[in-house]
Amino acid sequence: MAMKQKFHIAILPSPGISHLIPFVEFAKRLLLQNNNFHVTCIIPNNGPPSKATKAIVESLPTSIDSIFLPPVSFNDFPNGIVPILQIILTMSRSLPSLRHVLESLVSKAHLSAFLTDLFGTDTLDVAKEFNIPAFIFFPSPATVLSLFLMAPKLDVTVPCEFRDLPGPMEIPGAIPIRGKDLPEPFQNRKSEIYKCFLNLAKRLTEVEGIMVNTFTDMEFGAIKAMQHQKGEPNCIISPPVYPIGPIIQTGSSSDDHGSECSTWLDNQPCGSVLYVSFGSGGTLSTEQLKELALGLEMSGQKFLWVVRRSNELPSAAYLNSQLSQGDFDPSEVLPNGFLGRTKGQGLVVASWAPQIEILRHGSTGGFLTHCGWNSTLEGVMFGKPLIAWPLFAEQEMNAVMLVEVLKVALRPKASESGLIGREEIVKVVKGLIEGEEGKRLGQRMNDLKDAANRALSKDGSSTRALSELASKWQNLEASK
Ligand code: UDP
Repeated sequence: MAMKQKFHIAILPSPGISHLIPFVEFAKRLLLQNNNFHVTCIIPNNGPPSKATKAIVESLPTSIDSIFLPPVSFNDFPNGIVPILQIILTMSRSLPSLRHVLESLVSKAHLSAFLTDLFGTDTLDVAKEFNIPAFIFFPSPATVLSLFLMAPKLDVTVPCEFRDLPGPMEIPGAIPIRGKDLPEPFQNRKSEIYKCFLNLAKRLTEVEGIMVNTFTDMEFGAIKAMQHQKGEPNCIISPPVYPIGPIIQTGSSSDDHGSECSTWLDNQPCGSVLYVSFGSGGTLSTEQLKELALGLEMSGQKFLWVVRRSNELPSAAYLNSQLSQGDFDPSEVLPNGFLGRTKGQGLVVASWAPQIEILRHGSTGGFLTHCGWNSTLEGVMFGKPLIAWPLFAEQEMNAVMLVEVLKVALRPKASESGLIGREEIVKVVKGLIEGEEGKRLGQRMNDLKDAANRALSKDGSSTRALSELASKWQNLEASK
């Protein structure tokens, strides 16, 4: 009996585990909804894959292949480069090896679609060379996508630095975002990185569609503005936008500290524990780490804290698996005697923990997060109210959405120097875990979780958006 030909798509996340996770989870979800597809995940990198990356790749189902591109070199930057530039340069320096891989794939099968993210817009030219319809998978919120789609227009119409604007940014449908809350590259319009972002943004309109990891009830205004037809008031000119989320990690990114965390959580009262984590690579300064430790201790609340070595640059460990996932003795970085004094109150693990298992656990009552979009959606899917502690990238915008618009997070106030002091930490930790405000936040988070589950249900908005997309890919193939 002849086997039915499958539709083949290729996906190319930019470097970093927090990009890889939503891309492969998107592929898994597509296959779950429609088993006519086969996916090849192409992984660019600038060094050997981290433990967490290997764990994800090794657990992929057979309908998803993976290919690691040869690592690119940054030997021409002897003093190192910041993570965001590493991401952009890894993508552009991988073009020759990507071309090679796509050439080999199209020699064996038709590719119905090629998906990359914002940082991979240079790779659209390679997809074009092979006549593969190109799409963007945007693993961040619709609010951030609308900022990028509007960036070329804002660049022409706004005469000053965005941070000096007296009111919120004028982005149709978006929540009121102030210029100072935009990601770092938007803070200095004369910088090279801003120009680089602007160029990436300009290319977004070249693709045939943009999938965004969000759902209608979470970001109604931003999604609607991008889905309005050209010429309608309040519209943002965009290729078709497909809100297909929330898509979150389903497997485990590593079993580091897995049994230790679950055994400890099993022995704590329901909803009593604050989970504290700054994503795949967020770090605190030495002074801030000390304040957080003392604040957690003084709060008297239970906590499970994933501790990293301190660093003055909050994104320093991002893309550096030695800094972000390497093992070390947490007592080296914590205040003297902290581990002894908080024995029984808290569990501290070094570098990495099974986040999904921790958030799923009934003993976990809240999540102190850096507001990375994956962590945010994971908090939503498990109905855990948040403490918002943004560090870099678009996290400040996410925090505004969570605290001021959706009202599912508390935010500690920083002093003028930017430091969040121990008393402020005590206030928000107690407020979230045992205060009335925490209860209200928890209820709203549960409502959001219900809305997320509705979006993902059989007839839900995200399921329909994904079906529409799958049909589009199948029809593009059929019309060849
Ligand atoms: N993560 C994890 N264990 C950790 C830290 C992070 O499994 O100890 C996962 C987390 O569940 C999420 C991703 O890594 O899926 C982090 O992505 P996010 O967008 O929240 O932050 P980023 O890493 O981009 O700053």
